[in-house]
Amino acid sequence: MGDDIDDARIRRLVIVGGGTAGWLTAALLARALGSQLKITLVESAEIGTVGVGEATIPQILHVNRFLGIDEDDMLRAVHGTFKLGVQLNDFTRVGESYLHAFGDLGLPLGLTPFHHYWLRSRGRPGAHGLWAHSLNAAAAAQNRFARLDKVPNSPLGGIRYAYHFDASLYGQYLRKHIAPGIVERIEGKIVDVRLHAEDGHIESLLLDNGSTVEGDFFIDCSGFRGLLIEGALKTGYENWQHWLPCDRALAVGSAPGGPMRPYTQALARTAGWQWRIPLQTRTGNGHVYCSRFISDDEAAAQLLGTLETEPLGDPRPLRFVTGMRKLAWNRNCLALGLAAGFMEPLESTSIHLVQSGVNRLLAMFPDRHCDPKLIDEYNRQTRFEYERVRDFLILHYKATERTDTPFWRQCGAMEIPPELARRIELFRRTGMIFREGEELFAETGWLQVLLGQRIEPARHHPLADELSDQQLDHFLADVRTLVGRAVATLPPHHEFVARHCGMP
Ligand code: FAD
Repeated sequence: MGDDIDDARIRRLVIVGGGTAGWLTAALLARALGSQLKITLVESAEIGTVGVGEATIPQILHVNRFLGIDEDDMLRAVHGTFKLGVQLNDFTRVGESYLHAFGDLGLPLGLTPFHHYWLRSRGRPGAHGLWAHSLNAAAAAQNRFARLDKVPNSPLGGIRYAYHFDASLYGQYLRKHIAPGIVERIEGKIVDVRLHAEDGHIESLLLDNGSTVEGDFFIDCSGFRGLLIEGALKTGYENWQHWLPCDRALAVGSAPGGPMRPYTQALARTAGWQWRIPLQTRTGNGHVYCSRFISDDEAAAQLLGTLETEPLGDPRPLRFVTGMRKLAWNRNCLALGLAAGFMEPLESTSIHLVQSGVNRLLAMFPDRHCDPKLIDEYNRQTRFEYERVRDFLILHYKATERTDTPFWRQCGAMEIPPELARRIELFRRTGMIFREGEELFAETGWLQVLLGQRIEPARHHPLADELSDQQLDHFLADVRTLVGRAVATLPPHHEFVARHCGMP
């Protein structure tokens, strides 16, 4: 019995693709299972990588901890800066802006979340906006940053952050960080994928130089083309363009300049939106748009016309179809990164979805038989994660009051998934939000986008009425004072970067 189990163990694992997804997967698996697995990564310089991706979410810090990466060293290598959240401009109405800040809002008090106390304060004399009670938002507004696990001598929690970086450099950094000898890298173009006759599992890859790469388990990180999961296994793709209609992007760097903002900017345009991301060496810019409503030339003109500094080249075009692979795991092949799906970069979730896909694989690591029940469970959890992220993104488009262009009129009028409609309605009627299971975005994320998109709750939780009016005013004023004091101790973001992780 013991021998049978041993014989079925996966010994040879092959990763196809050396983009951010491929190298992140290789680094995590090498660390977790490097002594048990022979890991091979195949990539093709001729095909290259997608080469965009600049913003992340706080969960990426777990990658560093797990891999033992020194954060400052990494940020220097990837031209990185810090990110406290995303500022969303003109999504609700032209001229309006709000922040989806990471981290806590206010302080916990009693049994109901902070935002119900704040909801109760609306309309009272001297009431303040929600974001005056967020340390991350207040620091972002002043372009300040420091790593702060906990505010000293204060009940406030710390600052929760992520990074802006050059994702291609991050992939290369991870590659260099893997202990020598654990991952074999093969440069070559895969021209054929051979399947086992009896069960249709992938047996080997044929390279353009005539050599073959055999494996027990394959991870497809080949980007949009999905060379194994789609090309060889014909898994199918679920198209979400009716909910997330943008299908093209133009990306261009511009000279660094102006304040080094510790947040991503998303600026809604006539048929999509534009990102602005400060790196140490440049500002990353991109226009994500829907080709049914705007031509490529017009999209490029809008992008170039709104850069804050000189462009560093011509905009690079990218095409995509929002959605997900019908099965992320099919037979002995798991897709990660763009091969698994793409939901557009508005909330910077792609790199995180690779990370969580690897975590899930590690939690369910199979043997060579790849038990179908395990595969079903992996796919069920992946679908849940993708659909909740998808709904969060749809909210940014659906809950618009803009009617100035056909694109925004269509967004406002579209039918949305029932689960999202239920969530919006619950919030509108009661102010309540509940994080479901392991979904990525927590209550504070949903809250800020719901309120930022002007969905106003009709009431607050009755527990917030336990305080007298005066107690309520004092409580909220105290939170603002604590936030203000804490922010005043933080250095400007550019100073912090220069001091700790500035490039030579
Ligand atoms: P790729 O980078 O395309 O890599 C594919 C790899 O497969 C390459 O190494 C290629 O050589 C190899 N390959 C393919 N075919 C073959 C073959 N036949 N033989 C051998 N090798 C092959 N993510 C974020 O988290 N934050 C962001 O802000 C963000 N912004 C984005 C903006 C845009 C417009 C787009 C399109 C994506 C963005 N992403 C973002 C996603 C992010 O870029 C990707 O998740 C990430 O780069 C991973 O890409 P990948 O490794 O899956 O694919």
